[in-house]
Amino acid sequence: MLKIYNSLSKQKEIFKPIVPGKVGIYVCGITVYDYCHIGHARTSLSFDVMIRYLRYRGYEVKSVRNITDIDDKIIFRALENKEPFEAVTERFIQAMEEDERALNILPYDVVPRATQYIDQMIRMIQQLLDKGYAYLAANGDVYYDVQKFESYGCLSHRVLEDLQAGSRVDINEAKQSPLDFVLWKAAKPGEPEWPSPWGLGRPGWHTECSAMSLDELGETFDIHGGGADLKFPHHENERAQSEAITGKRFVNMWIHTGFLQINKEKMSKSLGNFLRIRDFLKNYDGEILRYFTIASHYRSPVDYSEDSLDAAKSPLERLYTALRGLPIEDLLPPSNTEFEQRFQEAMDDDFNTPVALSVLFDIAREINRIKNSEPEEAQTLGALLKKLGGVLGLLHQDPVAFLHHIGKAKVDAAMIETLIQQRDEARMAKNWAESDKIRDKLTSLGVILEDTASGTLWRLG
Ligand SMILES: [Zn+2]
Repeated sequence: MLKIYNSLSKQKEIFKPIVPGKVGIYVCGITVYDYCHIGHARTSLSFDVMIRYLRYRGYEVKSVRNITDIDDKIIFRALENKEPFEAVTERFIQAMEEDERALNILPYDVVPRATQYIDQMIRMIQQLLDKGYAYLAANGDVYYDVQKFESYGCLSHRVLEDLQAGSRVDINEAKQSPLDFVLWKAAKPGEPEWPSPWGLGRPGWHTECSAMSLDELGETFDIHGGGADLKFPHHENERAQSEAITGKRFVNMWIHTGFLQINKEKMSKSLGNFLRIRDFLKNYDGEILRYFTIASHYRSPVDYSEDSLDAAKSPLERLYTALRGLPIEDLLPPSNTEFEQRFQEAMDDDFNTPVALSVLFDIAREINRIKNSEPEEAQTLGALLKKLGGVLGLLHQDPVAFLHHIGKAKVDAAMIETLIQQRDEARMAKNWAESDKIRDKLTSLGVILEDTASGTLWRLG
């Protein structure tokens, strides 16, 4: 039985899909005005693992993640660069897809964009006006009247009065109350605009997720996810809009991923501790970031540093070393092993990846123990290790290739292999001085040599 921590009830609940055997999941995507950073990667990798696990458990999953391709930040960036806003969004959508491929993140089934949903959003805003949940302000904006939605604050577990007391004094006099949020923004000169019953303008951010999830997954769906920072106000607002319109429960399970800090501080450009995924990938393999991410539970805060990242290298190296040399291509893994049961128990407990990883290490240890004495048994265990690693999005690379570049994105493998060949030749000719010299050179490059019966193997240490 899969149990998931639901942010709404603040409890682990048994997961019961609305339609048996099927899961609809919606994850809030990014606003495409800049490159994705490793905080985004943490959220994306966490949900990728959950979706992979749901599929492994036999569910037919429909995954949806939006792209916010119209927003103040995008408009600002386009003005700054003197280019159309579409050029900005196209560029960063492509960059995001590239980054996610490098992190082995599976594409979502549906990737709706806000600008494709303007009509649906206008209809939704009209419904909210008709039902008395929204009002047209004097400046031409349309706002949601938070006071009208009784359970506002339930998801973030805050009381409306506290939220109001805590909210900053709002300079926007068009709003009736500081917590009211914008559904439709009247156009300002030079900004992208669409026609609506309230004049030219564009929809507010929160509305797009309500419109897209309703369209793709229906009035009530199974799982809605996002980073913890989206719980309030974004998800609270989505809930207020959707439930006001349908009169039904919007989402059964709300999943929120924890924060990522860098060197114990909040990631920020001004502090200089801001790291883009593509800058990370210049120095490291994407799988290292995935391992680092899932070595912690998805709800725990994680602290990123060079040291913690280095600590993620050697466990991955151990797993790949166990797989190295095992011909497991066409092998079926054994089913119902104790290993797999333990793996499932861990993942069924609110996707407990750190415990699931410990099972992978137990398999690797067993492979190493029997590799020489029981090679066939070691091979089928290798197939199991690869299969369960795959559920976490790990171990998809060729073990030898991975061990040749571990931790680093680019290594001159050809040069290293030439040196190894020269060393082998020197040894054949019993030229020990030369072979030692080459070995020292390889050591200085961080290459670790293993002389085996079938030749010299190498990896980076
Ligand atoms: Zn959203």
